[in-house]
Amino acid sequence: MLTLTLIATATIMNRHGDFYIRISSFLYLISSGLFVLSAQVFYRLQPRFILVFVPVVLALVIYLFPDLRDSFVARSRVNTSLNALLCAWAAYLYAYHNENRLVSARLLSAVFALGSLSYLVLFSGSFIQSGAWVAAAYNSIVFKANYFLLLMVILSLAPLMLALVLENHSAKYKKLARIDALTGIRNRRAFFDDADQMLESLCREDGSRSVSVAVIDIDHFKNVNDTFGHAAGDKVIAYLAELMGEVIGDKGVFGRTGGEEFSVFLPDMESAAATRLLDRLRTAFEEQAGRTIENAQAITLSAGVFAVRAQVSKLDDAISKADEALYQAKRMGRNRIERHHTEGVQPDLAKPHLITQ
Ligand code: GH3
Ligand code: MG
Ligand code: MG
Repeated sequence: MLTLTLIATATIMNRHGDFYIRISSFLYLISSGLFVLSAQVFYRLQPRFILVFVPVVLALVIYLFPDLRDSFVARSRVNTSLNALLCAWAAYLYAYHNENRLVSARLLSAVFALGSLSYLVLFSGSFIQSGAWVAAAYNSIVFKANYFLLLMVILSLAPLMLALVLENHSAKYKKLARIDALTGIRNRRAFFDDADQMLESLCREDGSRSVSVAVIDIDHFKNVNDTFGHAAGDKVIAYLAELMGEVIGDKGVFGRTGGEEFSVFLPDMESAAATRLLDRLRTAFEEQAGRTIENAQAITLSAGVFAVRAQVSKLDDAISKADEALYQAKRMGRNRIERHHTEGVQPDLAKPHLITQ
């Protein structure tokens, strides 16, 4: 269709003078339509192929009217206004749909906005009527700068689009590299990155604030795998991740940090509150997890909690303390939440190891 349009355009153009000017303005129009189309394809929007053809058809309609056809001004108005419109549209698409905040998409949007502006300057130029003024205007610094601007816009589009594709790919892979494939939550690296970042920013704001960390592990998981198969075990792991989303939500950062092991970072949370939160997770899991597998009995989890003032701990140290508390929970019979024994005793924490079935 594009080829046919080009052939039709070239044939019509060829009958008239200034052939190359006419054909190039049509090519500009087609490329502006293609820019909008490529933005739509890039953002997985419904591609509107009509965008490439309608402006060209509109510009060709002029050729039905001899007065307009031979008028440079009329042709210029139609072409520049359509180009301005299409460039503005592309600028809008690259700005509005840029959810991944890609720098190259922002630059493309800015470049298309400049392109639109440049076409608008040309459009406004066509309204200068007097002969003397026309020459003066087209020789003025404004118009010379405008042509230069349009040239810069056109030259920068190809490298920017290449940058956009590369940046998009790397953003996609970066995102994928942070997600655990089975559960869709943060993997080990993403958990440590995000929790570390959160701890650092808490320390900068006010290091005396509390943070709690927890390590969770499914009890006797080997038995689940051995009895019901690995796929059933996977379902249980995925279910726990889903439950963590419901119970912990945006109260903290959590991730799958091992096979059937998860870690949680809870900013601004004292030990007692963290323990209560994890105990809610424990009971919900005990009640529901067995239902993910046919004929399964209750499946349980244990967790270790460690709370500390933000400034006095590194994440790794806090997690190892929570891990020690987890092993204490395992030793004490599983299906329970344990706090690390070195935690400062606060009034509401006076009773040690109180959260059990
Ligand atoms: P404990 O109560 O002491 O934690 O007992 P456990 O059986 O859970 O102990 P252990 O940590 O030794 O066993 C963990 C098992 O989890 C072993 C491994 O086969 C299984 N596992 C690790 N990753 C996965 C996974 O992605 N899917 C499934 N289905 N099983 C996994
Ligand atoms: Mg286990
Ligand atoms: Mg384990």
